[in-house]
Amino acid sequence: MVIIPEAEPYIQSIDVSWCGNKIAELAMLRLDVLHSVISGNKWYKLKYNIEHCLDNDIHCVLTFGGAYSNHLVATAAMARLSGLQSIGIVKGTYAENNLTPTLQSCLDYEMQLVFVTNEEYNRKEDKEWEQLIAEKYNSPFIIPEGGANEIGRLGAGDITAYIPERFTHVVVSTGTGTTLVGIVNSLQTNAFVTGFAPMKGGAYLYEVVKGYIDNDKQDKYLVCDDWHFGGFGKHTPELITFMNEFYTQHTIPLDIVYTAKMIYGLRTQISKNEYPADAKVLCIHTGGLQGNMSIQERLIY
Ligand SMILES: *Cc1c(COP(=O)(O)O)cnc(C)c1O
Repeated sequence: MVIIPEAEPYIQSIDVSWCGNKIAELAMLRLDVLHSVISGNKWYKLKYNIEHCLDNDIHCVLTFGGAYSNHLVATAAMARLSGLQSIGIVKGTYAENNLTPTLQSCLDYEMQLVFVTNEEYNRKEDKEWEQLIAEKYNSPFIIPEGGANEIGRLGAGDITAYIPERFTHVVVSTGTGTTLVGIVNSLQTNAFVTGFAPMKGGAYLYEVVKGYIDNDKQDKYLVCDDWHFGGFGKHTPELITFMNEFYTQHTIPLDIVYTAKMIYGLRTQISKNEYPADAKVLCIHTGGLQGNMSIQERLIY
């Protein structure tokens, strides 16, 4: 059986005075509490992938990620806890004594790490390369980078069970767009969904996602890339100060790569009156807190 999260998601309200009383309600869906590394959206995207392996007597999963990838370590942990082996194809080369905290965690969960050049890594969706890898590693089940496959999107859709009808807007951070697609397609309410992309030029995701969004949902979402803070994985002292302040005010820990940028952007949008006064906004905390290990000494949490 697929492992069950350690805690249930819940909704935490945030006083609207935090954003100048300009909307009617603000709340956060705390998916970060599920598990320390299989947190947030990662558990949802992986669960049917892992279940597929268990149901079909497949003993090993293989996936892809960078040296700070939340997806990579979540896969390592979920595979391990489900009794599966895992292989991680890592972008770039890292010496054994110079691993990132994320890669070290992957090893702790007994993931076999295979380092490849950026060039090789970029062939990850190339069927021929996939075939070679499958042969080399004894036919593992291949999960695309970010869990971006059909059952990944389906699993992400299950997050909508926690989105009450009263919310007019849902905001979620977006990397591959898998979670965004899952939520938009599965949402039974009328809420409009905004995906916050933490990378430069992330608006391209709108087109990527479009191909997977159901026809009757095409006008139900948007991708915003205004708050990348220099690019994916980059940040500024201002962003870290913001995270510490947010934690002091609401006791919610944000992650440096995704959710901090989203919440910063959301507050700016609200302060610029980009949401109607009667808006009820639910932001989704997609987890990823393990990624804060690299800036731990600058955070108060
Ligand atoms: C992986 C991740 C995302 C991006 O999810 P996608 O489904 O790839 O769009 C967003 N937030 C956090 C915290 C993540 O770890």
